[in-house]
Formats: sequence, C-alpha cells, structure tokens
Amino acid sequence: MGLHYPFTDPPGTGNAVSITPDVKWLRSPLPISLGHINCYLLRDGDGWCVLDTGMNGAAARQQWLDVIEAELHGAPLTRVIVTHHHPDHVGLAGWLCDRFRIPLHMSESEYFHSLAFNAPRRSQPFWEVDQYFARAGMSLDSQQSLYANDDYNHMVSEMPASYHRITDGQRIRIGDFEWQAITTRGHAPEHLSLYCRERNLYISGDQLLPKITSNVSVSPIAPEADPLADWLDAHDKLTAIVPDDATVLPAHQLPFNGVHVRAAQVVHHHQQRMDQIHTLCQQPATAQVLTEKLFDRKLDAFQNFLAVGECVAHLHRLMALGRVERTLTEGVYHFRALT
Ligand SMILES: [Zn+2]
Repeated sequence: MGLHYPFTDPPGTGNAVSITPDVKWLRSPLPISLGHINCYLLRDGDGWCVLDTGMNGAAARQQWLDVIEAELHGAPLTRVIVTHHHPDHVGLAGWLCDRFRIPLHMSESEYFHSLAFNAPRRSQPFWEVDQYFARAGMSLDSQQSLYANDDYNHMVSEMPASYHRITDGQRIRIGDFEWQAITTRGHAPEHLSLYCRERNLYISGDQLLPKITSNVSVSPIAPEADPLADWLDAHDKLTAIVPDDATVLPAHQLPFNGVHVRAAQVVHHHQQRMDQIHTLCQQPATAQVLTEKLFDRKLDAFQNFLAVGECVAHLHRLMALGRVERTLTEGVYHFRALT
C-alpha cells in the first residue's frame, strides 16, 4: 500500500495553505538541495504559534514578514516551537523571538545543542574530532574542507537566552486543541514531534518524511554512539501513539497519510542497508571505502560527512548484533563480517 497525499499544491512565496482553519502551512527557502522546509502556524487564541522557523538568511526572513502580513491580518505571533537543533528548523528562532518578543519552546537537549553549536567555535578541531575522521578512513583533504565549511552560526541567528522546556508526553494546549509531545532519538538527541488526537494531525518534523529518510549518523561528538538503535525504537514509539490514518505534516516534501506504512518502509530501508553493508564487509573495509561502494555518485565534503556518519551508524548496530567486528590498524578502523 502506498501513501496518500491530501494536499498536492505547496504554498508559494509569501503565502500559506490552510490545512484546517487552525493550521497554516508555509514554506521557507533553503540554500541546499532540498530547496525548502515546511513551517506551520497554529491558531493560538487571538494569535498564531510558529512551528519550526527555517534557516537564517535574508530571503527566509522576508518570507516570514510577507506571510505574516498576507495571512495573519494583524493577529500577533504568540510563541515559537522548534522540533530540533538543525539549522533549517531552529535557524530563525532567535530572530523571530527577538523581533516579536515571544518565547521559545523546545526540548531541553535540543535547546542546549542549539546553544552549544551557536557558541564561538574553536580555532582548531579537538584531537578526538581528527581521530574520528582518521579512523573512518577519510582523507585529510576532506576533513579540512569540512572544518572550513562548518558555519552553524551563519545558518542560525543568535539563540534566545531563555526557553520553555517541553517534555515527552506533555499535553500542550495551543488555541482550542491539545497536542501530545513525542520526543525521539536517532536523528537528533531529543527531537520533538506533536500529535493532535482531536484533529488527527501529526506534525512530524524530521521524524517521518514521505520520500526521503532522515540522516542517522555517528558524529565526532559521540564517536561510539549507536543512534540507529534509538532511531529504530523511535518508529515503534511513534506507531504506538499515532494512528495510521493521521495526516502527517512533515518538515520536508508534502503532507501525507500512511504513518504506519511509512514507518515500516523506513525501518525496512535500514535493515536492508545493514544487510548490504554486512555483505560488503566480507572483505575488511573502512567506513569511507564502504560509503563509496554504497553511493555510485560523487559526494561533496558535507554529503560525504553525512554518508560516512550514517555508514558508521549501521556498522555500530551490526557490531552490537555481533554481525561485524572492528579492528584498529595503524589508526584506521577496518570492519569485517563475522557471520
Ligand atoms: Zn533534522
């Protein structure tokens, strides 16, 4: 069974599409291949609550001002809720909160991740970062160009110095409706999504997207982590709460129906990827070499960083299952299939 798309015409520049009388869908431009992020406005009493903000930039700021003028007829913004710390979601939170003097609501880990990445960066990478890339088999060149392009601070306006914490399971009243907070790990440390039972609407952030899978990576910040275990668990949690026929309002691409179908597809994709990597490990290989075998196209430095991180995430899950072993030879990890 496939997915059903109830809204096939995305909003244009400067306006929004009404999903219901209380939920508006708008798009914010992104200077990356995805091209856009979906943001939402939820009626909140006499005003409107912002749900995800877009990446910092002149066009994205203007888009907010145009949409507010065209759609809200003078009604105020009341608060900003952000799903997670990635720049396309939190990028304009500081700007919106400051300009309209409204509070920011986030989960604790995501707020503090945003603050940490938003701080002035080190002049040189920490030795453990260098070691992570070297152990993955990445060339010195790609490590250096990655570090030079690390510009979270350009993509994210200065973060608000205070926030209101949202916790897992919390019931949040927004206007006439109650939304249940669902936090999940795997793509981000405490990703927030929201389900409204009365309207059967699920604002998924990056937790569930119709046609692409969110990146699940081991990063140099936590080089021994097993985020894929968290990510697979997240889909069980999600399908236990959100019914299959809910309308999903995702952060990218189009709204859709088919929560359980899509969750099963995503889990299947990762299981297939693990099998594929397991097969490739019949000959001992580094994460970089395995990544090049998984992708038949040339990746730029940032895409390669995400792809290697995702490959390592699958390798760590395979190691936890006893299907792959890892040996450190001359500063580089080689992975070998055991079964
Ligand atoms: Zn994300």
